[in-house]
Parts: sequence; structure tokens; C-alpha cells
Amino acid sequence: MARYTGPLCRVCRREGDKLFLKGDRCFTEKCSVERRKYPPGQHGQRRTKISDYGIQLREKQKTRKSYGLFEKQFRIYFHEAERRKGATGELLLQLLERRMDNAVFRMGFAINRREARQFITHGHFTVNGRIVSIPSYLVKAGDVIELREKSRKIPTLADNMSRLENRGIPAWVEVDSASFKGKVLHIPSREEMQLPVQEQLIVELYSK
Ligand code: SF4
Repeated sequence: MARYTGPLCRVCRREGDKLFLKGDRCFTEKCSVERRKYPPGQHGQRRTKISDYGIQLREKQKTRKSYGLFEKQFRIYFHEAERRKGATGELLLQLLERRMDNAVFRMGFAINRREARQFITHGHFTVNGRIVSIPSYLVKAGDVIELREKSRKIPTLADNMSRLENRGIPAWVEVDSASFKGKVLHIPSREEMQLPVQEQLIVELYSK
């Protein structure tokens, strides 16, 4: 599958917000958004007036890029959220949060969603005892995600597990680092999603 391979910090600077695409660096003063608070490129420091459409577009791009998705994939999630009963914006974010790569990242097994995606496609995780190698797999309440026995000695994974305490684990999941397991306690509510986006703007954009 195609994927974005360009500079990650540039993506954050374009959106003017920290999207935590790298990992540890995002929490230090080396973060590019902290150091250069203007969009990338030759004309990045120019003052420009942004239209309502521009504001909605940036909000959508910010959300889409946070989860590392392409436009087509993101639209599929939006249409699915629209089809379900309830507030479309919140349902959209719930679907995105329920992705397996996001759950692995939120549980602290990986330092970012990109790394989580790689671990999953390489078959390092099981869900309820069965190997799941599809990053878009939607987890549900009660699912148990476990690092496979033979993967526990992989240095990167072992290192991530040893630093688990330092990461903020959201309330909708619980992690037991001793048994390399994480459990989805419930589907996250809007407050538990730790996402600085205004989902209503995305709904307005796609409703035009
Ligand atoms: Fe974004 Fe992290 Fe780079 Fe900061 S360090 S700009 S949060 S990817």
C-alpha cells in the first residue's frame, strides 16, 4: 500500500499543531512545531487570511494525518460514521480510535501509529488469542491485545514496554506490562480521545 514517506515534522508544521508523529522527540524542545511556529516552505512566514473552507480543510487534514490515512480511506470512515445513528463527528473519531494500530499505540506498545502499524503487519500481536496483521482492524470492548511470546525479545518492543509507565495510557484501555497484554475496556468517549480537533468542522466540510 502507498504511504507517506516525507518529513513528518513538516506535516505538523503545516497543520500548526503537534500531531505526535515521531515519538519521544515530540515531548522535547527539539519538536519543530515548538521551534518554528509557522508553516513550512518559502512563503511559510507570510501572513495569509484563511477562509472558512480553509479552516474546515485544515481540521480534516489534521485529523487524517494524525492517523496516517489517505483521503480515500478517511472518506470511507466518514461515510461509515454518517451511516450510523448518532453524532457523525464523534462516531468518526470513535471509528478512527478503534483502529488496531491506534489501540496498540495508545497502549504504549509503540511510540507512534506508524511504528504500531509495522509491528501489526509483521504479525507481532494477537487479539483474543488470534494473530491480527491488519492495522485497520476495529477493536471492540473486551478485546485483549497481546504481544506474541516470540516477539517479546525484540529490542524496540522490549524498550517500549520498559518505558510504559512514562506514557499516558487513556482510560478506555488498560495495560499489564508484566504479561504484555492490553485490554479495551470500553469504546472511547469524546473526552477520552485526547484529540485536539473540532470534528464538527470535518462534518461541515464533507456536507458541502
Ligand atoms: Fe510533530 Fe513530533 Fe515533529 Fe513535533 S517532533 S513536529 S510533534 S512529529
